[in-house]
Amino acid sequence: MLLIVSGPSGAGKSTVIHKLFDKRGDIRFSVSVTTRAPREGEQDGVHYHFRSPEQFQKMIEEDAFLEYAVYTGASYGTPAEPVKRDLEAGSSVILDIEVQGAAQVMAKMPEAVSVFLCPPSVEELERRLRGRGTDTEEKIKKRLETARVEYSQADQYDYIIINENADRSEER
Ligand code: 5GP
Repeated sequence: MLLIVSGPSGAGKSTVIHKLFDKRGDIRFSVSVTTRAPREGEQDGVHYHFRSPEQFQKMIEEDAFLEYAVYTGASYGTPAEPVKRDLEAGSSVILDIEVQGAAQVMAKMPEAVSVFLCPPSVEELERRLRGRGTDTEEKIKKRLETARVEYSQADQYDYIIINENADRSEER
């Protein structure tokens, strides 16, 4: 199964996904390519493949992405080959991607199961983004603005999960 998990940044996507991995060793995580700078503790090849805008552009030209999008000033993309390989090997694959990319995957692979994970409110989202302490004020503002647009896409998804509590969201 190809599982798309999308929703505003700060909704708790990675927390819920990591909880799921702890229980299910047979699920593979698709490591995305991004042009944004690594945050403290992030490792190349584990959290993301960190690449220059030129390298990213080259991958677009080589048609190497299943989907890609620009999100708050940086590019993000899912390399197509590992997803294909893992699905063919019989594994389930999870994509943690934003809404523009999710729409591209839904169009290309209608059999994918899509989940929109959102925080209980925009106020709670703001609290979480600030609490994370990883982004500048300007970046937080941009992410909140983007979140309002993202919320309007929620009805395109197979499931909507309101993430009040990461343990309960993972169970669902
Ligand atoms: P962050 O910079 O906080 O790691 O991620 C920002 C947003 O980009 C998140 O909503 C995350 O789900 C999304 N994202 C991560 N990887 C990809 C990708 O490969 N494609 C797309 N479209 N979005 C991604």
